[in-house]
Amino acid sequence: MRAYPTDPAARRSALDDAERLRRLPSIDRDLIRLAHEPGFPRWLDQIKATGGCARPVYLSGHTTVRDAATGAVLRHYTTADEPGGRMPVRCRNRRQSRCEPCSRQHAGDTYHLVRSGLQGGKGVSERVQLHPRLFLTLTPPGFGAVHRASDTGPCKPQDPAARCEHGRPLACHQRHDSRAPLVGQPLCPDCYDHTGHVLWHACAGRLWNRFCHAVRRRLATLAGIAQTRLREHLVLSFAKVAEFQRRGAVHFHAVIRVDGPNGPSTPPSAWATAELLEQAVREAADSAHVHSPYSPATGERLIRFGTQLDVHPITTALDSTTAVTDDAVAAYIAKYVSKSVGDAGGVDYRITHYASIHHAPVNAHLRALMATCWRLGALPELASLNLRAWTHTLGYRGHVLTKSRRYSTTYGQLRAARADHQTGTSHLDEEAKETVTESAWRYVGVGHSLAEAELAAGVAHHSGEF
Ligand SMILES: [Zn+2]
Ligand SMILES: [Zn+2]
Ligand SMILES: [Zn+2]
Repeated sequence: MRAYPTDPAARRSALDDAERLRRLPSIDRDLIRLAHEPGFPRWLDQIKATGGCARPVYLSGHTTVRDAATGAVLRHYTTADEPGGRMPVRCRNRRQSRCEPCSRQHAGDTYHLVRSGLQGGKGVSERVQLHPRLFLTLTPPGFGAVHRASDTGPCKPQDPAARCEHGRPLACHQRHDSRAPLVGQPLCPDCYDHTGHVLWHACAGRLWNRFCHAVRRRLATLAGIAQTRLREHLVLSFAKVAEFQRRGAVHFHAVIRVDGPNGPSTPPSAWATAELLEQAVREAADSAHVHSPYSPATGERLIRFGTQLDVHPITTALDSTTAVTDDAVAAYIAKYVSKSVGDAGGVDYRITHYASIHHAPVNAHLRALMATCWRLGALPELASLNLRAWTHTLGYRGHVLTKSRRYSTTYGQLRAARADHQTGTSHLDEEAKETVTESAWRYVGVGHSLAEAELAAGVAHHSGEF
């Protein structure tokens, strides 16, 4: 037995291993336990394969691919030999707030998806570079005065004495930084048309479709041809992304491209220029409208775009005379798909009880919009708008990114190409044969322990996929 050391340094070193381990924070103890497990190196490889996904889904099961004629096994994979008898699959959440690595990969896929529609590649003809293409931003109208960010002048330079019917000032002589909490909040919440705002969101998808029809109709009229014959001259395709602004309203950023009658590999008729397309887009944005379903509580609202419309021709990166290049547009759109209403101060989870609106970590303006959504959602005549299910997105129920079939490749194709690249397999040899696939999978869990999350974050940090 050793004598008790009098020197403090010696005393510290005298702590035995078990004691030191006991004194470590629990996350470090968990890390050490994890690293000593026999399956640890394989687990780390699996986590690397998910790109360090923050919330992987664990599956257990097997897949066997057989030659249909001979019954010979061509490929067999089972999780029986994996650590814990399971394998992690990435969550593929597009939201940065949910999973940083997966949102980064999703943004990267979006970039390629949008870019291939502008420059060609990934199965899209490079001819598309020569076709008329526009980048546009469509906005909702105003639903009431809100504080705005500005570095040039005061927020609302109206007469300081002017008041609304509720006695609140119409002016704001402050200058707000873009991150100021007041930006996007109404000057008077009682003047603000929450119902109009929510109904606009709920009808925005229909309005967009109406707009696309109107662009086709205007193009035909401008060219002096019958609408029914437009398809013999050109096909329109688009990709659009929805972005939530600080005032809680959705903006659409979209790419519109004109191809020939047989798609990207054929030129449109010579009269279909970018200038003519721009004129058609401007007129269509101005005229397109839909009506909200009638309700005694809300009336029937006219739903149309606001006057703030941006239209820019897109050029290839080589032509540097304009800032709107195809690369810039692809990067711009990709940036928005990883955002959610949560990034604009809302929540990115579904609301299932009215009471939870009061506890949601949002500002007073978004809370009022959510409450309006919930309240209108109870009206049977508005049932088709499904407002309660979309309370968290303030009534907007479209996808973040939508595109027409012909625009470019798909997320699925991009993922399949990446999977083949990663596993080094090509299924070409299998495609030649007729095969039978037999598989059985079940869900066994989701997410990481604290220590696993720490390691996955390290993997994500070093993979830098995008
Ligand atoms: Zn993930
Ligand atoms: Zn202000
Ligand atoms: Zn007022």
